[in-house]
Formats: sequence, structure tokens, C-alpha cells
Amino acid sequence: MAVFQGPAGRYAPSPSGDLHFGNLRTAVLAWLFARQSGRKFFLRVEDIDSERSSAESALRQIEDLEALGLDFDPPVLYQHDRGDAYADALARLDTYECYCTRRDIREAASAPHAQPGMYPGTCRDLTEEQRALRRRDLADEGRLPAIRLRAHVREWTVEDFYHGAYTGPVDDVILKRGGRVDQAQAGDWAYNLAVVVDDGFQGVDQVVRGDDLLFSAPAQAYLADQLSLVTPFYIHVPLVVGPGGRRLAKRDGAVTLREMLADKRQSDIVRDIAGSLGYGQVDSVNGLLDVFEPSQLSRDPWTWESL
Ligand code: GLU
Repeated sequence: MAVFQGPAGRYAPSPSGDLHFGNLRTAVLAWLFARQSGRKFFLRVEDIDSERSSAESALRQIEDLEALGLDFDPPVLYQHDRGDAYADALARLDTYECYCTRRDIREAASAPHAQPGMYPGTCRDLTEEQRALRRRDLADEGRLPAIRLRAHVREWTVEDFYHGAYTGPVDDVILKRGGRVDQAQAGDWAYNLAVVVDDGFQGVDQVVRGDDLLFSAPAQAYLADQLSLVTPFYIHVPLVVGPGGRRLAKRDGAVTLREMLADKRQSDIVRDIAGSLGYGQVDSVNGLLDVFEPSQLSRDPWTWESL
């Protein structure tokens, strides 16, 4: 496959259901940032999780984004096609096998001094003999080891348009999942590796996404550094929340484009998105391109209500 030329932005949804109002708003923002800065704009289908992803869902998401008026530079990249690139990247990183079950990690993480959410390093410094034993035990259970990054830093700093210099912890993130021998296939790559390899491959130097992913940016930027890839400039945007401040969800009513189209025109929906960005009179994404002023965007989550 040809190497794509940046500079570029991207929108990278996981195809596990229809996009809701919050996803659509983030996609519009990603498109606005890319196009206002003269960048290409790619759509990437993040379908490495084969159990939760479907080709049909990906097509519906693309149709919905196009219905809003967004355009993408070809081609659409599908992560399920990218196993060779992830394997190449893995071979270039300092890694180790991890034999822990989720339960092992949970238990170790509840020990005194453990940092919540961080891998406690249980398998990091095992001897070759210990590894051989753990590998054998795992094989007896029909399981494969996971592969983790051996991180040489404990934190990393990224630059973010709305959050400034953001420093966060870096741990030995999973790069390839373990799982069961009988189910093992090229689909076991982890999100953190795939997102970094693909951003590098596509020349993505501007990452716009929901601020629920801000915490993952330092580890991803560190991985990019370890792979000698350009670190993107990050723009983590506020989420849309349901009433009460929870994540927007089905229970909040007609939240997907298709549900909203049951009693609204497409231009009204674009107007609602524009309204949530502070431009209630604009009813096309091209109109937004002329007026959107990034520094004016509210830093607070936007509360969705049945409009
Ligand atoms: N695929 C991720 C999601 O849908 C987004 C990843 C990213 O933008 O870096 O949550």
C-alpha cells in the first residue's frame, strides 16, 4: 500500500453501533480543524475488536457522516487490514510477554502503593525460567500470552490545544492481546498500538477526539516516539453528556442521526450541532467552516436534551 502524505487530521470511530449526537459533533469538529488548517482529512475504521465491530456498522457510520456534509480524503483505512504493519511495529519496540489474567492484574492493583489503572509490572522482570513455566501453564489452559511495551519512562507530556502541556502517566501498555489459542487470529492488536501506527502511516499530525481519551495521549505519544513517528498535536474536545452529566446513551432518547431524522430534517440536525458549538444560525458544515473560531469553543461538556 502506498504511504499516505500528511499533514492530516482524522476521525476514527469504532464501528460498534450508530454514531450518536456527541460522536457526530466530535466528527464535525475534527473536520473543521483539519479543513481550516488546510489538512487532509481521513476516516479510519477502528475495527480491530472483531467481536464488537461490524462492516455494516462501518458503512452506516460513513453514510451518516457524509449525510452531514463531511468529506474525507481517500482511501478509508480499515484496521482489520493492517495486521502486518502492527506486527512490524511490534518487532521494533522493547516488549515482553505478560501472562497475567485480568484477575491477577486486579488483585495486584489493589495492593498498597499500586497506582490505580496502571499495570503493576508483575511480568516485567521474570527470568527466562519463570517465563518458560508461566508460558507452559498458560498453554495448558489453552491461552496465549499478551505482549506489553517495556516503558522506560513513568510519564510523558503532550501538547493539547485546549489543555496546554498535559503530563500523564505511562505504563507498560498492552500492544497485543493474549486470549485463547483456538481463537487467536490477526485481530488481537491493541488500540494503543494500532492508533499510533496508523496515525504515523497516514501522516496524521493533528488528533481531534473526545476529551475522555486525553488520559491515553501521553502513552500514545511515548509509543510514537519509540517508533520514531511524529507526535501529533492533540485537540481533545469536550464531550456531549446526557441529562445529569452522564455519558450520552440510548436511554437519553433519539440520539443517533437516524433516530433524529425520524422527525427532523438533516439541515436542522446540522443546525443543532452548530448550535452546540455556539453557532445556532448556521445550517451547513461548509457554513461552519467560515465562522468556526476554535478558541471560542466552550470547555464545558455540552448537555444534550431532546431538541
Ligand atoms: N476509536 C476510538 C473511539 O471510537 C477513537 C480513537 C481515537 O480517536 O484516537 O473511541
